[in-house]
Amino acid sequence: MTARPLLNRRLDGFGTTVFAEMSALAVRTGAINLGQGFPDTDGPESVREAAVRALRDGRGNQYPPGPGVPALRTAIAGHQQRFYGMDFDPDTEILVTAGATEAIAAAMLALLEPGDEVIAFEPFYDSYAASIAMAGGVRVPLTLRAPDFRPDLDALRDAITPRTRLLLLNSPHNPTGMVLTHDELTAIAALAVEHDLLVVTDEVYEHLVFDGEHVPLISLPGMRDRTVSISSAGKTFSFTGWKVGWVTASASLVAAVRTAKQFLTYVASGPFQYAVAEALQLPDSYFTDFRDDLRSKRDLLATGLAEAGFEVFAPQGTYFITTDIAGLGEKDALAFCRTLPERCGVVAVPNSVFYDDLDAGRTQVRFAFCKRKGVLEEAVTRLKRLAV
Ligand code: PMP
Ligand code: GLN
Repeated sequence: MTARPLLNRRLDGFGTTVFAEMSALAVRTGAINLGQGFPDTDGPESVREAAVRALRDGRGNQYPPGPGVPALRTAIAGHQQRFYGMDFDPDTEILVTAGATEAIAAAMLALLEPGDEVIAFEPFYDSYAASIAMAGGVRVPLTLRAPDFRPDLDALRDAITPRTRLLLLNSPHNPTGMVLTHDELTAIAALAVEHDLLVVTDEVYEHLVFDGEHVPLISLPGMRDRTVSISSAGKTFSFTGWKVGWVTASASLVAAVRTAKQFLTYVASGPFQYAVAEALQLPDSYFTDFRDDLRSKRDLLATGLAEAGFEVFAPQGTYFITTDIAGLGEKDALAFCRTLPERCGVVAVPNSVFYDDLDAGRTQVRFAFCKRKGVLEEAVTRLKRLAV
């Protein structure tokens, strides 16, 4: 027996995601891994210590409460108020999940009936197609196109049918780095209201917007009761292994998502939940320093990739840069990424696996820049060998 192909798009036969395949390649070859999006430096020492303290004090070593520990739910509410001026009831409107990945899966399982259509902008993060498929939904991709990857709002309007149940949005957007503008969000909100759609928003890169600012769709008029907003501590605090994510939404939507979530993991990450509660209360300077550091790394890698012959699509947010390799004489991103470690000791990710429209992303390759400066500089030096 093999798994349903939709659970493993484009990599049939490999039995793994593109991230796992490329990470395994990095380990095997010793190449610099700019593939999977994880930082090479852990988050703040004080947050790590908070996790150790929780473990030692016996907080979270046994099943935490299903919705998440109260301290974390209160801290999430405080974060939404501090950054977005929004009020959420920690008891009924917040749900802690095993990373954003579980939140997305639980939202699809909770909110879709088999055959319901889900509109999402491609390229999309690989778990979207799988989560929609597991829920029996039908994904309807709308293609974001280089060089600026702006959403086509007329195409969005045209894609809505009586079967459309929800929009699955991601801003800042992985892998392109596109950040939806206030005007785009307003237009999307108007369509959701007009057609009575739910919207699930993946906002895991909310603190990584380099140009402009992050606006949660749920804060716009008409969206408070139809949006499931998802985020995660992994990206913001550089602890991707802790898998602490959360949902903020109306009480009825949170209750729906919780109903699915309780049969996925039920609960996870007990002691880490206490540590993330402290992380969310770090001063504003933590969040601005984090963003400024990554902005300078974006600039370093973008410049280096351009010098190495890549066409660079500078991201407005996230810690990824999408490039085009056609100028290097390359025709296929997946083949390119499978040989890149051998050729020059760097690992990247082919965007082509994130598209249904294979042609749209055939020569796009993504590089992560959440790495130490020296590592990025060495990667650039190596990549420049490609052109010679
Ligand atoms: N959504 C996007 C857009 C991502 O890039 C990722 C990867 N971190 C996730 C969701 C999953 O987040 P988590 O690790 O918290 O499950
Ligand atoms: N979100 C990470 C990325 O986009 C990868 C997470 C995963 O391995 N599934 O690189």
